[in-house]
Amino acid sequence: MSDLVSVAAIKDLLTECPICIEHFDDATRIPRRMPCCVQSICQPCLESYSGGAATLSCPMCRRRHNLPGGVKSLPKETVILKTLDYLKIQKGLHLPCTDCPDKEIAVAQCDNCGTFLCSICLSAHKRNTVSKTHTINTFDEMKGRPLQSFRRLHQCSQHQQPVQFYCYTCDKVVCVSCTVVDHKEGKGHNVVSVNEAHQGKAKSINDVLGKIEEKTKRLSETESALQKKIENIKLSMKVARDDINKIFDNLKDRLNQRRTILLSDVEGKSAENLKVTEEALDSTRLLLTKVKSSSEYMRQMRNKADKVEDLQVMGSSKASLNSMLKESPQEIPFDRTGVSFVQANVQHLQNTINVAGMVRSVTFSPTERPNGIPDTAVHNVITLEPAEFPTD
Ligand SMILES: [Zn+2]
Ligand SMILES: [Zn+2]
Ligand SMILES: [Zn+2]
Ligand SMILES: [Zn+2]
Ligand SMILES: [Zn+2]
Ligand SMILES: [Zn+2]
Repeated sequence: MSDLVSVAAIKDLLTECPICIEHFDDATRIPRRMPCCVQSICQPCLESYSGGAATLSCPMCRRRHNLPGGVKSLPKETVILKTLDYLKIQKGLHLPCTDCPDKEIAVAQCDNCGTFLCSICLSAHKRNTVSKTHTINTFDEMKGRPLQSFRRLHQCSQHQQPVQFYCYTCDKVVCVSCTVVDHKEGKGHNVVSVNEAHQGKAKSINDVLGKIEEKTKRLSETESALQKKIENIKLSMKVARDDINKIFDNLKDRLNQRRTILLSDVEGKSAENLKVTEEALDSTRLLLTKVKSSSEYMRQMRNKADKVEDLQVMGSSKASLNSMLKESPQEIPFDRTGVSFVQANVQHLQNTINVAGMVRSVTFSPTERPNGIPDTAVHNVITLEPAEFPTD
């Protein structure tokens, strides 16, 4: 992120309550800081969570807090309020004067005091001996300037004076009056200037942020390691699936090849017997036709012939009829023939298919490194599921 935070970026980060997604404001949706979580939550959301009770569970992390003073006792998130003021100035919206009770529309800010000034208070501020040397920025001048150049008036809510001190004992920023009333040095309160406290505390928060950064790094390393593991599991699933599909596609091909061979055996082993039987049928039919037509011819001839002609017909035909009696059709050596399919080895094949292949898990787990294995070498215990092949 650049040093000059853009308006759009601030808007996303800081101007909405994470619970109700409504915009914060200085009057009703006041951003309150929980002791447990960094994000601020609007006052109405917190009030509805507490239900008026003296305890409140954090809507973000569910931690319970005792709040005898109610939700209003939680500190306002002044950075958000400052951001809201800044955005109002950038958009030309009205801000009330913080210098007069009438809360007139402010037109400028005193950079030294942090106050918003209406036109009347502005002239007064310029005339006053104490404040006439102060740097005044009109809202028009402030438009387009980065948020970092914008200051907000930090006033003590009890004494209406600027907070300029920090009490280490109470972890609270206080005004000069507070240092002589509730946060007196003599009564054991350790009070220093805001600048000094900021210097001291910035170091320790930076230390924590540094550790948070390390933790973020470790967590993202774990994240990518876990992602890698998921990828590995999925990769092993893909390889196993591909192997299974390959083997079974191959088995399917072999089965189809075997089917083709057996079907062609049906053709091959039937062909010769079919051929000789069909030839026998042909020769039988041929002889039958010859015998039938000759006898029919003889019958019709003899019907038409007188005794002399009949004698002549009988004489000439007898020899050929006798030779016809001696003729026989082609014979076949079998009574009946055919092929049949024998289910040789099929039962065995089916039983084998039912238990063909197995899937087992293989796990690599880290373990204590035995002596003699260099640190650089990957060392894992490999757990294999037993691979006794299933039997039928
Ligand atoms: Zn809210
Ligand atoms: Zn919390
Ligand atoms: Zn005023
Ligand atoms: Zn001033
Ligand atoms: Zn005070
Ligand atoms: Zn104190």
